[in-house]
Amino acid sequence: MKYVIVGGDAAGMSAAMEILRNVDDAEITTLERGEIYSYGQCGLPYVIDGRISSPNNLIARSALEFRKRGIDARIQHEVQEIDFEAQIVKGLYRDEAFAIPYDKLLIATGASPTMPNWEGTHLANIHTVKTIPQMNELLESLQHTRHVTVLGAGYIALEVVEALRSRDLQVRLIHRGKQLMSLIDEQLAEHVLAEAQKYNVEVLLNEQVTGFIGTETVEAVVTEQGSYPTDLVIVATGVKPNTEFAAKLERWDNGAIIVNEHMQTSLPNVYAAGDCVAHFNYIKGDYDYVALGTTANKQGRIAGLNMADKVSRFRGVAGTAILKFFDLAIGMTGITSNDADKLDIAYDVYTHTANHIAGYYPNVRPIHLRMVVQKNTQKLLGLQAVGAGVDKRIDVFATALAAGMTLPDLLDIDFSYSPPFNGVWDPLLQIAKRVPGTQTILTQFNGGASEK
Ligand SMILES: Cc1cc2nc3c(=O)[nH]c(=O)nc-3n(C[C@H](O)[C@H](O)[C@H](O)COP(=O)(O)OP(=O)(O)OC[C@H]3O[C@@H](n4cnc5c(N)ncnc54)[C@H](O)[C@@H]3O)c2cc1C
Repeated sequence: MKYVIVGGDAAGMSAAMEILRNVDDAEITTLERGEIYSYGQCGLPYVIDGRISSPNNLIARSALEFRKRGIDARIQHEVQEIDFEAQIVKGLYRDEAFAIPYDKLLIATGASPTMPNWEGTHLANIHTVKTIPQMNELLESLQHTRHVTVLGAGYIALEVVEALRSRDLQVRLIHRGKQLMSLIDEQLAEHVLAEAQKYNVEVLLNEQVTGFIGTETVEAVVTEQGSYPTDLVIVATGVKPNTEFAAKLERWDNGAIIVNEHMQTSLPNVYAAGDCVAHFNYIKGDYDYVALGTTANKQGRIAGLNMADKVSRFRGVAGTAILKFFDLAIGMTGITSNDADKLDIAYDVYTHTANHIAGYYPNVRPIHLRMVVQKNTQKLLGLQAVGAGVDKRIDVFATALAAGMTLPDLLDIDFSYSPPFNGVWDPLLQIAKRVPGTQTILTQFNGGASEK
């Protein structure tokens, strides 16, 4: 059986390894347009300030190591076309055309950072953060830089901002939206803005970039409001799935490939996984686009198992994510009240600030919580948290969401307790037991808000 996998990172190589483990006579060919296989993009921001000493430390396994295990792992092979009827993948290796037949195909081509169609994007010192070669170029440019402008306000933008500040560079962040981290509700995003300001990041919100000025190298960012001098720009305004060659497959609004729970696309013998697919969100009950490494690894594994005829199912995502931003952690799982409004779900939202550990224990810090619960049924729908001790609460809540739990169920959970780890009432229990009828509760119904 001939297996061809396009894309040599998280999703692609997770699948390749499952096929290798489960099919004795598998001929596995993996096609990667770059030169580097299986690396941890998630670690790239921490290379900027030296927390991780070299981008090469992020490489989990090289193409050579995969070849030693029996996978025909090719580099510099860019797929440009797929003949889905004849089952042949076509593309270029350097300047030479190649055509490789498949019995089963996995598309795991990920996503690329978007570079909007602005004036002056050809200028030097305008960077994106996605691959190791890009990071090496950025590190080189940063040696001659005092001031950096970061465009965007999502998790990559924020992680990069923190790393640049800890390198003691001057940093300006420009974002067209009204808040940092649009994945959380604005009430919690205020804490993120305050943290940026505490660390002397200049934040410009509601500013639409139109282009860049410079002769050879960027010298200023131009927005609809003004022009801002800078030495270097990092564009982190979003990503787009790499699916140009897959127009014959059913695709979602942003071009992401639609797959079923077995990672099968709309055509026979063609699977897809990772950042190039739309992800079924089981809280929203619909497709979504949540491009994360955790999902790419899981989906790749499941695609590989199904391609090896071991039936396996991907249930979907709940939008669970976390990031570090200076002294804060920012986490989310499930839906926000904004999402609930868009989905026309009747809900209550509960907000609460607690100590992340016992109030009398050293280094206690606040955790700000915002919980969304379905009206009447009290089914848990989502949690956002900003502050300290966020990872534990978000993951407990994600587990509760996966189990379809209600607010009273949450109160029944037997949490661990000791002062260095939480209060005798864990912050999640505090918020649950205050329901209903206290001043901390804000009830909303389809956009109409009222204090209880
Ligand atoms: C800076 C940064 C920080 C991140 N932090 C986190 C985090 O903290 N937590 C988290 O969960 N996720 C994080 N992510 C996201 C995570 O890295 C991605 O979700 C994950 O890498 C997706 O894996 P993938 O295999 O689907 O795609 P990719 O990793 O993008 O791999 C796709 C591969 O396909 C290759 N390819 C594309 N087109 C072709 C073609 N036509 N022919 C041949 N090869 C092709 C590409 O070169 C690439 O190597 C981060 C990403 C970045 C950039």
